Amino acid sequence: MKKYLMLINGEWLEGDRFFPVRNPNNDDLIGTVPEASKADVDRAIESAQKAFGVMAEIPAHQRSDILLKTSQLIKEKAKELAETIASESAKAWKFASGEVARAAETFRFAAEEAKQIYGETIPMDASPTGVGRVGFYLRFPLGVIGAITPFNFPLNLVAHKVAPALAAGNTVVLKPASATPLSSLKLGEILMSAGLPPGALNIVMGPGSTVGEWLVTDPRPRMITFTGSPPVGAAIRDRVGMKKITLELGSNSAVILDEGTDPTGVIPRLLVGAFANAGQVCISIQRIYVHQKIAKEFTDKFIKGVKGLKVGDPLEKDTDVGPMIDEGEAKRAEDWLREALNQGAEILVGGKRKGTIFEPTVVTHVKPDMKIMCVEVFAPIVSIIPFTDFDDALDQVDASVYGLQAGIYTKDISKAFKAVKRLNVGGVIINDYPTYRVDHMPYGGVKLSGMGREGLKYAIEEMTEIKFVCFNLT
Ligand code: NDP
Repeated sequence: MKKYLMLINGEWLEGDRFFPVRNPNNDDLIGTVPEASKADVDRAIESAQKAFGVMAEIPAHQRSDILLKTSQLIKEKAKELAETIASESAKAWKFASGEVARAAETFRFAAEEAKQIYGETIPMDASPTGVGRVGFYLRFPLGVIGAITPFNFPLNLVAHKVAPALAAGNTVVLKPASATPLSSLKLGEILMSAGLPPGALNIVMGPGSTVGEWLVTDPRPRMITFTGSPPVGAAIRDRVGMKKITLELGSNSAVILDEGTDPTGVIPRLLVGAFANAGQVCISIQRIYVHQKIAKEFTDKFIKGVKGLKVGDPLEKDTDVGPMIDEGEAKRAEDWLREALNQGAEILVGGKRKGTIFEPTVVTHVKPDMKIMCVEVFAPIVSIIPFTDFDDALDQVDASVYGLQAGIYTKDISKAFKAVKRLNVGGVIINDYPTYRVDHMPYGGVKLSGMGREGLKYAIEEMTEIKFVCFNLT
């Protein structure tokens, strides 16, 4: 068990009090971290403000070098980082290792994007009053960015905020999820040893209701970038004042398997999409709409696949599904499932909970207004809904308060384009699951799934502002 410290102005500092970080798999104490006081948060913001003067003067090629070095160091420390993710978040080893590889790639992409922050010239003489003028705009970093992150990708989602912010020349005050702060502290160590100036990244820990709230309501940060649940995101949106804001929130993602889809071919992918990280992924598959013609074959084979998943200790290399983040969350999922069963749903496989372990569960005979259908379940529970008409399936997918990503398996290109046009989501993934993401693509949601986009180039657009310049040559 290690005592971790908070990072302010390049120094690792004690706090007045500490709180425990536990392994959700066995409740072992794996570390303690300081709980930041209001004065600590104040110092972190002040140090980020001072460091902005330094960061804004560092040329793009040097910022890029720091980010590339960070990417290399993440690769060198891959085993330690994967162990940290698996221990604090209970993510199964293979997915924890995948997250580390993605975080290295996120920093590599950021290193490339740091050198590609372009402006644009404006054809001023398109207006009679613009004749004789030369106009263009440049992009400038905002300043201090407050970043608040969730537990389910404790390294790569931190990378998705810190890397583009630094690439653009901003400074950051990060508040990671209280359940999983250790991965971000290790990332902080790596960034410091890669040559990041003191104060460019500050990491403070503590409850969202205090530390998060102080960060959100302080007038000095120019932007809040938040990934987490829709209710918390909405509350932050209401309190952020005139700051810019990016909200990456949850969803009840759906996939459509149109007639002609090969059930055997898609099953390995859908098992990952529904059950990786015990369903605690913002683009986890929650609803599977399957054409009647293939519904029986798909369902039988999918159930067989679920029965073959290895559930248990996340640190064992072949585990597919680890525990949920805490017992309270697992009990909540159990309650929602029980409620659906009382309303007529039927379990095809799974359904049981032991402590934090929730069996991968497949449900049928569901109704659209059941919680497990219409609210983000964030647990290893997936519903199968047969359909006969593709348009109707699209309507059902779209009848959601969320809109992050949708997956459409179809052999018919006109149906694919119809889905692209009709679905109100941030991303339509044709012939793959909605859980698909590479780290440089534009990523984000509409409706309750949020606003703004991540993916390095797009996050940099959010984290910079345009300054227009006009020369009068007359
Ligand atoms: P939460 O919304 O509970 O917490 C996210 C972060 O917000 C944590 O750091 C939390 O702190 C903090 N927080 C809580 N309350 C406040 C507050 N009042 N003011 C400021 N900060 C606050 O989410 P989870 O950690 O449970 O993560 C799961 C959610 O994240 C799911 O809904 C999931 O879909 C979503 N998500 C979205 C992604 C996307 O890219 N769209 C990606 C991954 C997850 P503390 O930990 O101390 O409570």
